[in-house]
Amino acid sequence: MTKVTCVIPCYNEQEVLPLLFDRFTAAAETWGVDWNVICVDDGSSDSTWALLREQADKDDRWQALALARNFGHQTAVSAGIYHADGDVVVVIDADLQDPPEELHRFLDKWREGYQVVYAVRKKRKEGPLKRFCYWAFYRVMAQLVSIPIPLDTGDFCVMDRKVVDVLNAMPERNRFVRGLRAWAGFKQVGLEYERHARAAGDVKYTFRKLLKLAFDGIFSFSVVPLKFATWLGFSVSLLALAGILFTFVQRLFPDLFNSVGLRPVPGFATIVIAILFLGGVQLTCLGILGEYLGRIFDEVKRRPQWVFRDNVGLQGRIPPP
Ligand code: UDP
Ligand code: MG
Repeated sequence: MTKVTCVIPCYNEQEVLPLLFDRFTAAAETWGVDWNVICVDDGSSDSTWALLREQADKDDRWQALALARNFGHQTAVSAGIYHADGDVVVVIDADLQDPPEELHRFLDKWREGYQVVYAVRKKRKEGPLKRFCYWAFYRVMAQLVSIPIPLDTGDFCVMDRKVVDVLNAMPERNRFVRGLRAWAGFKQVGLEYERHARAAGDVKYTFRKLLKLAFDGIFSFSVVPLKFATWLGFSVSLLALAGILFTFVQRLFPDLFNSVGLRPVPGFATIVIAILFLGGVQLTCLGILGEYLGRIFDEVKRRPQWVFRDNVGLQGRIPPP
């Protein structure tokens, strides 16, 4: 029988976990397949781990891994995927924003022969500013990245074993899972769904974490920003050349320029603006280089992507990462 493994990253989710256990189990029992869940505790400081252990003791389809500290959502998802043993792997958030009741539609698509079925958000129940940032990010990203990363999709998806094996073989540290999933190829399809509000608890993605995710998406998948530096430098140089030519001609024919009102004036403001502008351009370009350099630094250190602290229900299946 087909086995479905669901990976659920959990970071301080004690309020929502009891709801999740009930709703998810009820939904999964309607699928008519063999299933298990791997919850990854991403270094929570509340009673998340105690609740996960308790659930694993009650129902051996629920298993759990604990990371040694908060490694971040993308790493938690990657660690879960790495240990998933199903023929199909589902990635879903703990907060029930992505309803588990919808998953049967995704599994049907997988049965039709798609290797990746990802969720496309039809509506978001979040503030206008956050919605706008997401909207803008996906459009900027689409312009910069050469592989087609579908718009308005998150990590909520169903993946075939073949795709999971490709993801597991990627040693990247700054992981942008939805990008890696698109990169893998195979037959992919999006299904629309309505993203609900969080069932309980507060948002765990801080603005900083979201910004890191956005930067990982762009700088791990595109070298266009590097070219942007070149083009910007080139355009500014052209502008400067035009200025030099203008000044030169003006010096040669001062009367002509005077007669049309272009009298040479001592240009304090011009100089200050030019210096500030060029300083800004140079720092921006250095910053862009820094983004890539930092990522190269992370890769060459070759540290493990995550560290485990504990697990329940997975004994004997956890090789060193
Ligand atoms: N999460 C995590 N580690 C983190 C932050 C979040 O594992 O450092 C998990 C969190 O428990 C949830 C999922 O990632 O299951 C999505 O987080 P959240 O709902 O806070 O963010 P959203 O994507 O809804 O803005
Ligand atoms: Mg959420």
